[in-house]
Amino acid sequence: MSMINPGRPVAIIDGKSIAAKMRTRLAARVAEMTTKLGLRPCLAVFLVGDDPASTTYVRNKTKAAEAAGIRTIDVSSSALIVEADLVAHIRAANLDPTIHGILVQLPLPKHIDSKTIIEAIDPAKDVDGLHPLNVGRLAAGRRTFVPCTPQGCMVLLQNTGQTLHGARALVIGRSTLVGRPIAQLLLNQNCTVTIAHSKTQNLPTEIQRADIVIAAIGRPQFVRGNWLKPGATVIDVGINRVAGADGKDRIVGDVAFDEARAVAGAITPVPGGVGPMTIACLLENTFTAALQQTNIRSFY
Ligand code: NAP
Repeated sequence: MSMINPGRPVAIIDGKSIAAKMRTRLAARVAEMTTKLGLRPCLAVFLVGDDPASTTYVRNKTKAAEAAGIRTIDVSSSALIVEADLVAHIRAANLDPTIHGILVQLPLPKHIDSKTIIEAIDPAKDVDGLHPLNVGRLAAGRRTFVPCTPQGCMVLLQNTGQTLHGARALVIGRSTLVGRPIAQLLLNQNCTVTIAHSKTQNLPTEIQRADIVIAAIGRPQFVRGNWLKPGATVIDVGINRVAGADGKDRIVGDVAFDEARAVAGAITPVPGGVGPMTIACLLENTFTAALQQTNIRSFY
């Protein structure tokens, strides 16, 4: 069975509008939860240092959470904080019943081991899905907190109407944050999954075979249009800052969009594709964490 339809016009997958709908739906559920159960989900956001990109990401996340009715607690600390103190702050949040979700903004300063920090988070509050217990549950095909960007990619794929069962999917990138969990999620949906990375031989040939291409590389416009199978669905996770012709910085993905849109069946733009989905999925995970911790199953 063919998984693609080369004859159809390209669909631009509008992550911005899909994420906005998710957030509106979620806000209604949060409002209902707060009114009926007196329960307001709460997300504690840990930011270490004052890296401008991390500060912006955290601001966007807390703004979106508050707009959806989710309370946020800002746990900012100096870049000089020692690892043991950060662990102690996380353990305090683990024990606080009014906090349902914990997010540690990465990357952390070099003197702090991010694995130690992530392992300090209570897996029941690990709304980023990075604790080894949740990573293992995902690998075992069990219900768990799924990392937000990979989950967002799956929602986008499902919105295309693309048949996942039996489709050939190529994930380019094998990071624990993006590539690996996406591969796992695709496998759980019965895709035939290949994972490519920097040592992969002849990447264009691998891409040519794929009905679905997920690019999570971190290299601007790396995947060329003529490498794609006609009609393929392309999810571009990359966020790369490059200098535009006008001298101003602009954001581009890992896929050469203008070339790829001439060949693909469906494709995400950058910005406006995967990016907005990450926050929407984080908010959904926080809502789920609040429900699970209060164990009110009738509300599911
Ligand atoms: P990462 O940890 O640097 O991983 C990049 C992956 O790409 C690695 O597995 C690497 O292979 C692979 N790679 C590098 N060069 C390659 C090449 N020439 N051919 C094939 N594979 C190659 O990055 P990440 O955290 O996964 O992020 C990937 C991209 O997604 C970045 O642009 C990041 O900004 C973006 N991102 C976006 C969101 C969002 O919300 N939209 C969220 C997270 C990340 P090796 O393992 O062999 O080194």
